[in-house]
Amino acid sequence: MILMREVITDHSTLNWHICTLANWHIAFSHKHSNFLPYTYCIMKKILVICLLSCLVFSVHSQDLSYYLPDSVTYDPAVPKPKDIIFHEVGEYHVTHDRLVNYMRALAQARPDRIKLEIMGFTYEKRPQVLLIITSPKNQQRLEEIRQQHVQLTDPSKSQGLDVDKMPIVVWIGHSIHGNEQSGSNAALLSAYYLAAAQGKKIDDMLENMVILFDPSFNPDGMQRFSTWVNQHRSKNLVSDPNDREFNEVWPGGRFNHYWFDLNRDWLPAVHVESQNRLKWFHLWKPNILTDHHEQGSNASFFFQPGVPSRVNPLTPAMNQELTGKLAKYHAAFLDRIGSLYFTKENYDDFYYGKGSTYPDINGAIGILFEQASSRGHLQQTTNGLLSFPFTIRNQFTTTLSTLEGANALRKEFLQWQREFYRSAMTEAAAAPVKGYVFGDDLDRAKTQTFVEMLLRHQVEVHGLKGRVTIDGTDFNASGSFVVPAAQPQYRLIRTIFEKTLNYKDSLFYDITSWTMPLAFGLPSAELTAAQLTSSMTTEKISVTPEAKGGIIDDAKSEYAYLFAWNELYAPRALYELQQAGISVKVATARFEMPWKGGSHKFDYGTIMIPVKAQTMNSAKLYEMMKDVAGKNTLEIFAVQGGEALSGVDLGSSKFAAVTQPKLAMITGTGVNATDAGEVWHLLDQRMNIPATHLEPSVFNRADLAKYNTMILVGGNYGELNSGKLKAWVQNGGVLILTEEAVSWGAQNGITGVTFKKLKAPVDSSQALTYVDREQVDGAQQVSGAIFGADVDLTHPLAYGYRQRTVSLFKANKVFMQKGKNPYATPFYYGGKPLQSGWVSKENADAVKNSAAVVVNTVGTGRVINIADNPNFRAFWLGGSKLFMNAIFFGRNIDAASGREE
Ligand SMILES: [Zn+2]
Repeated sequence: MILMREVITDHSTLNWHICTLANWHIAFSHKHSNFLPYTYCIMKKILVICLLSCLVFSVHSQDLSYYLPDSVTYDPAVPKPKDIIFHEVGEYHVTHDRLVNYMRALAQARPDRIKLEIMGFTYEKRPQVLLIITSPKNQQRLEEIRQQHVQLTDPSKSQGLDVDKMPIVVWIGHSIHGNEQSGSNAALLSAYYLAAAQGKKIDDMLENMVILFDPSFNPDGMQRFSTWVNQHRSKNLVSDPNDREFNEVWPGGRFNHYWFDLNRDWLPAVHVESQNRLKWFHLWKPNILTDHHEQGSNASFFFQPGVPSRVNPLTPAMNQELTGKLAKYHAAFLDRIGSLYFTKENYDDFYYGKGSTYPDINGAIGILFEQASSRGHLQQTTNGLLSFPFTIRNQFTTTLSTLEGANALRKEFLQWQREFYRSAMTEAAAAPVKGYVFGDDLDRAKTQTFVEMLLRHQVEVHGLKGRVTIDGTDFNASGSFVVPAAQPQYRLIRTIFEKTLNYKDSLFYDITSWTMPLAFGLPSAELTAAQLTSSMTTEKISVTPEAKGGIIDDAKSEYAYLFAWNELYAPRALYELQQAGISVKVATARFEMPWKGGSHKFDYGTIMIPVKAQTMNSAKLYEMMKDVAGKNTLEIFAVQGGEALSGVDLGSSKFAAVTQPKLAMITGTGVNATDAGEVWHLLDQRMNIPATHLEPSVFNRADLAKYNTMILVGGNYGELNSGKLKAWVQNGGVLILTEEAVSWGAQNGITGVTFKKLKAPVDSSQALTYVDREQVDGAQQVSGAIFGADVDLTHPLAYGYRQRTVSLFKANKVFMQKGKNPYATPFYYGGKPLQSGWVSKENADAVKNSAAVVVNTVGTGRVINIADNPNFRAFWLGGSKLFMNAIFFGRNIDAASGREE
């Protein structure tokens, strides 16, 4: 939905970029196997010139004169894009490998101006290239400039710095959505311009500026999309939007390898692309960061500022003021080439996980550009023909306007960066919350992941010295951490930790809340001045302390090994053991064992590996257990007998055998790609568990007996043989349905879930004006908010949870009724479920007293219905536990507990 909202957004109604030559252009371009640049000619006189230049153009194919300012001379020794990529800019979509070749060629041709860095590699091992472009003089003292620049963000060092003498740092970034390629193709031109332009203007600019030039934010998506459009390009360009060229196959080029939207990942930084990029972002702390995108084909061009009422309240007003000052330059430059644009509409600056908003909470200014997309090479739109070169030219032009504005406003931006961090300290000093404590000593890997995320954003983190109890929650020294508020990243810390329930606007471009400790399912608490004492914390940490796992005391057992299910990687460990042929049981009851002269209590979900039940001998098993514990941060208990002090003995039938999951997920057209990608990423990257991705057509003809667990995430499954799926469940399969897949399952008689009726948001007697409909309808979207579900901690789907309330993320309108069977609803939204975020009153009422998870017994199988997205954006680790429980313990759920009476 989020994707659709961005792609379909269309606010332009004017036919502007296409002069009256449109029809002639089509005919001409077909004949000459060449598309032609649209000119912005309106007057007849210009039309004639346009005609002539078009003719010349077609003879010499596409050349750079269409794009580049003609007032500049260029160093002939610098290769032009075509010399390296073999086609003109805009003629084809440049592939990522050729783009990198060109960047390398420029760095070789102008080492005095350009330094090429590899920030890291994508999942598909493509390099993430960063060009550092500045004057030859600055290149000589680059590290000195960097260090001095970073001092601006440190209030203890920024006082004496003379910004007058400092270059501004500008990050130019392109096409984080892989199928919005006018950005990365414009990067060919911008890089050429910066390498080859000659004269006082460019010299002056490079002297005052360090440009961090990122030609592709999403190399894997770029390669996928460029391959698609190039392979479907006809010599005689076909502009019919129905053509295959404009209609990519699932999942499309927007996403990264795991089908994630990288433009939501700047804050959670789950992906390698974001992690590599953030490292360089904080190495340099740019003043401006541009983010070149594309919007729906019928629109014009957007640049920020966005909708004023939808700026995140943590972003200071000065940020938007400077954004507005820079906007004057974009407007002037686009005016000059006759391109229409809009601003202060549609887009916002709210979610800090976006590339144009993340800089705003880091003392910089992020700028979103949205060009109407030609998607392929030439497309018919409501505004006439839209050519790829035209879109590239607008992107290139706004890079030029950004650089010109940055140069002119240099001192203001530098001063703002210093002031941003100074005022952060002042605000922190005045705030009642002096810090946050968080952590779970029974889930150290998850706590570690959280600390790593904080360190990526340069948040200062300290260890906890001794055990504390805050607001009724215990925090142990091992596994808990403290973040003091009084530090330069104060505002960013607030956006990570705070819950929000008050909003200025009810429309959101993306999610409304992302409180990270809730998302991670980590205990956390705010600290007052009295609570946060200097003796409470250790020195600040610079790397995450590695949590170690192992068998306690390295003890070998001849009887049984036990480990708790709380740890993030417990499922990974379990799967590895099963893969090695080890038989494993899970405790469905609590028990207490003698331990070191005392006792130890084991909770629901404890995993038991009986030693003598294995085909593997005890010595080999011991080595395996040690290895698995170490890799997965597990603390394993080696017990020497089976008699419990209280609760069940180890031979009790309350220990249930756990079958190894054999997984398949339905993927392909209709399936929500990001939801499916989240499952793929969770299983593959975090859990080392393979799953078959089944296209509906393959599902319909495949033998399903080899799978015991099937996953359907949000989406439309019209092509799927629902009868076959139902028969598979009846024969004992575990079917996991999330979000809209639950509705599909109910419609097709696979699940017995029923849904709550939504109250009409507007009663018909209310007087509404037509113009308000966008606001009224938009407010009824569930853009994404956090709800706390009450959990039955004894249920197999709740194994490993300790807190009675689990925070789940809702961004849909699936409101399930509680199951008729009293044991069928292990996760339930009570009377006050909203924890953080915005949702309309009608939707809030619908969530109240609705079911978050319902289990149905169907034949000998189970259907596990999860109303929300438990794996949201791969940082919702608090929900992923539920999802992994469904995979491992779904078939352990007692059949009677899921039967409708
Ligand atoms: Zn985009």
